[in-house]
Amino acid sequence: MFDKVLIANRGEIALRIHRACHEMGIQTVAIHSTADNDAMHVRLADESVCIGPPPAKDSYLNIPAILSAATIVGADAIHPGYGFLSENARFAELVEEHEFTFIGPTPQHIRMMGDKIVAKQTAAELGLPLVPGSPGPVESIDEIKALGRSIGYPVLIKAVAGGGGRGMKVVENEAQAEEAFNLARQEALAAFGNGAVYVEKYLGRPRHIEIQILADTHGNVVHLGERDCSLQRRHQKVLEETPSPALNREMRERIGRLAADAMRKMGYRGVGTLEFLFQDGEFYFIEMNTRLQVEHPITEAITGIDLVREQIRVATGAPLGFAQADVKFSGHAIECRINAEHPETFVPSPGRITEYHPPGGLGVRVDSALYAGYRMPPYYDSLVAKLIVAGTNRNECLMRLRRALEEYVVGGIDTTIPLHQRLIAQPDFVNGDYDIHWLERLVGLKK
Ligand code: ADP
Repeated sequence: MFDKVLIANRGEIALRIHRACHEMGIQTVAIHSTADNDAMHVRLADESVCIGPPPAKDSYLNIPAILSAATIVGADAIHPGYGFLSENARFAELVEEHEFTFIGPTPQHIRMMGDKIVAKQTAAELGLPLVPGSPGPVESIDEIKALGRSIGYPVLIKAVAGGGGRGMKVVENEAQAEEAFNLARQEALAAFGNGAVYVEKYLGRPRHIEIQILADTHGNVVHLGERDCSLQRRHQKVLEETPSPALNREMRERIGRLAADAMRKMGYRGVGTLEFLFQDGEFYFIEMNTRLQVEHPITEAITGIDLVREQIRVATGAPLGFAQADVKFSGHAIECRINAEHPETFVPSPGRITEYHPPGGLGVRVDSALYAGYRMPPYYDSLVAKLIVAGTNRNECLMRLRRALEEYVVGGIDTTIPLHQRLIAQPDFVNGDYDIHWLERLVGLKK
């Protein structure tokens, strides 16, 4: 087992990793920018190293500084969390070249899945169903027009290097193809330094269903069920739940088995998530995330499995302690992503937290790095807390979520708590009847 793990991240996920490490008797090292001197992850860790100024490119993305910190403190392993360097194959390679363990998949698998076209080709070879679309990057307007004629409009132009829902353009008809193609390429180049784009059929009312995978280095792979992440704004997840109100047991087992078999064939290790769109009873693979996800706690809530602990265990080479048949799903769980933003205008609202009282009680978990007196810096992600609520069934979970949101007090900044309260009061949500466009219609972004 490792003696010391360096956590290459900040905020709630740095705390989450610290907690798993301490429960396993592992010492933790926090890294931080000068904007995060007073951050909770720095306060809780056994050691901390300041690695640079506030901009992420100079600190949390600064590979030489992070590797130097790991060397100085004598860390055994590095956990990248999510975001930042978590899906940077070069970082994973360098970590291993410097003889630290990277707590994550192989650099080859990260690289493969980071290119969305290679990811889709690989998924097809592994037997996963795809959204119809271009077999590779599209280089001309004529190609888009030909695709539009063969698969039917609307189509969606997406960035090959995409992420965070950026650089996507819907094309309703042939007349829009040229402008959308040029815009998508410019946006992709600006956001990812790579202007390559591809085309998919645009599904009208799908749900976003993803499968959690856990694999060791001995060929054992299990799936831990699905998460329904259809409640999105600008292709960013807002609230997630498991199990999905849209799946029955047969569908869950079918897609879970398909995903686990694919990962076994690939020789994948660690945690990973296969994302699908689901419409009219069919699943369509869109991408794979080769890291821990923001919404992992709802899976933990219904399986009782600590995903970060398992991630660390398999990174040491230990075999999984259980098989698929041992995984039991029980009850229902929902996560609300709470952002420091105005609940109606979504304008970011960093600043000093004057008052802080998180909810508690049976079935309530709050993953957050907030505390009273904390001054939230403006440089990073606006996600400040995750409220995760579990119940024996969906109705109990909803009632508990309602009361937990009522209890939550965050003073001094705007948060999206009122958005969640409004959202969960809607009859469609209560009935589980929503698709990926539903929330945008609620907040008035879409007709
Ligand atoms: P990113 O990596 O930028 O998050 P994804 O491929 O995961 O991009 O897509 C993000 C979201 O965009 C999905 O959850 C879904 O809401 C929407 N989306 C992606 N592909 C399609 C599609 N072919 N049709 C309709 N919506 C889509």
